[in-house]
Amino acid sequence: MAKILDGKVVRDQIQENLKSIIQNLKSKPKLVIIQVGDNPESNTYIGQKIKFGERIGAKVDLQKLPADVSQDHLSSIIHNLNSTPTIHGIIIQMPISEHLNREKLIELIDPKKDVDGLTNTNQKLLEENNPNAIIPATAKGVISILNFYKIKVSGKKATVVGRSKLVGAPVATLLKNLGATVEIGHSKTPDLTAVTKPADIIVVAVGKPNLISKEHVSKGQAIVDVGINVVERQQETSDKRQEGKENKRPMANGKRLLVGDVNFSEVQPIVSAITPVPGGIGPMTVASLFENLLEAYKKQDD
Ligand code: NDP
Repeated sequence: MAKILDGKVVRDQIQENLKSIIQNLKSKPKLVIIQVGDNPESNTYIGQKIKFGERIGAKVDLQKLPADVSQDHLSSIIHNLNSTPTIHGIIIQMPISEHLNREKLIELIDPKKDVDGLTNTNQKLLEENNPNAIIPATAKGVISILNFYKIKVSGKKATVVGRSKLVGAPVATLLKNLGATVEIGHSKTPDLTAVTKPADIIVVAVGKPNLISKEHVSKGQAIVDVGINVVERQQETSDKRQEGKENKRPMANGKRLLVGDVNFSEVQPIVSAITPVPGGIGPMTVASLFENLLEAYKKQDD
């Protein structure tokens, strides 16, 4: 049975560390979250960020805007936040309304305050392996959890499934920068098994339940499941009945369950280590965001 890489344990350690540092600062780091509309999943993620901020003594301000807010209005809000010295981090909670140009809005954020690490400036710094890069929180969380559980990266073969700007691409860059030989799988990869099976580490960030199953993995691997998928409880139960076993991992949330991209019950008996969903990368993402906020604060305080 694989060792469970518990993200909550790592998150709690980061939380204590950030709290003790922030206690001794002369002013408090402040994050502004821009939300457009009222997406229920965004509300949950924002709630987690606000709570974490409270626990470590950082300030978090939510600026909730109507779904029909104009690009110009949003742009002027970002300009104002950029020029406010008491604000150290700005994030735009995705998704935002389709009439808005997401890329242009992200580019307006001052790279020093871009604590999601999504501006071209920060992405380029990351590619250059420049220590000043602000690294996208989820990707940073993936590396921190591997590090915490002493999973060696340098000299290893790593496969990242998914190549988005938000998760897959920065994870692949970070693993490469840390000395891994990296393969990337995506929607056009003809045979995913050919890239996942030989790897020492597999990171999956796709958004498709059960994409990775027993035929994709081999003994000794560490699996990091970034995917978050909401599935109907009934569907999950009948899937398991067909397989003749009960999957105890997904957490019930009324009739809905949160699952990752990896078929946990099939893969866990084969591999060496695996992150659960929920409780793996989710908590790491929140903690890493606030690590970024503290870094941004320190740079702006210089
Ligand atoms: P995107 O939709 O932006 O990217 C998905 C990636 O998966 C793309 O690169 C796509 O390939 C690839 N892909 C799609 N279908 C397949 C397939 N059948 N086989 C292999 N690759 C495939 O998603 P994100 O990167 O934003 O998020 C990925 C997952 O991670 C989601 O479930 C999301 O909810 C979750 N997530 C979790 C976070 C956390 O804190 N735990 C934080 C952020 C995201 P192509 O490029 O060819 O289209």
